[in-house]
Amino acid sequence: MNYAIAPSPTVSLPIHGSEQRFPIRRVFCIGRNYADHAREMGATIDKETPMFFCKPADAVVTDGGPVPYPQATSDLHHEVEMVVALGSGGKDIAADQAQALVWGYGVGLDLTRRDLQAVAKAKSHPWDVAKGFDHSAPVSALVPAAQAKPDAGTVLRLTINGSVRQQATLGDMVHNVGEIIAALSKLFELKAGDLIFTGTPAGVAALQRGDSFHAELEGIATLDGKVV
Ligand code: MN
Repeated sequence: MNYAIAPSPTVSLPIHGSEQRFPIRRVFCIGRNYADHAREMGATIDKETPMFFCKPADAVVTDGGPVPYPQATSDLHHEVEMVVALGSGGKDIAADQAQALVWGYGVGLDLTRRDLQAVAKAKSHPWDVAKGFDHSAPVSALVPAAQAKPDAGTVLRLTINGSVRQQATLGDMVHNVGEIIAALSKLFELKAGDLIFTGTPAGVAALQRGDSFHAELEGIATLDGKVV
């Protein structure tokens, strides 16, 4: 192809136990998917209408790379989340068929410029600048679904500088993975390579330069990194 400028490289995640990598197409995120987090944000949950937003694929930080403290904020928040990677896609998928699309699992941080999000909420602006900034989505290596399958008892946990900040089990999710995929597929045609951040439990708080984070989807995936 005779491009006028150099095309951006494809961002990809390592795969646990493999030399292959997982190329990322899009990054979808669900908001307000744990009742205790919705409560701490003063938000209400609408079970009928899940709330979605997106991040650019090149916001994903791979391979445990450092997370630069972003510009334009003084209130960078962590949100630990299970990340689902899709190996196939489609539109208008039924929730009970959706699990078949899942290629693998990981754990990530939906980093948020909470001060800009507060302004966006107050002015009824979109969330892009609060959520979709550069380096806003560190994600672990992925574990193929054939090797590990989280269930309602799987623990999601975030430790900052050795102290537990967020912890929940996946059974606390308002919308489970099948329901999230089904709802997203009514809005977008999903495709192989899509990542879905599945929401965060309570305990979101500020990160500072120099903080070390350890996120885990217990027994399945871990992510270690640092804010610099
Ligand atoms: Mn989130």
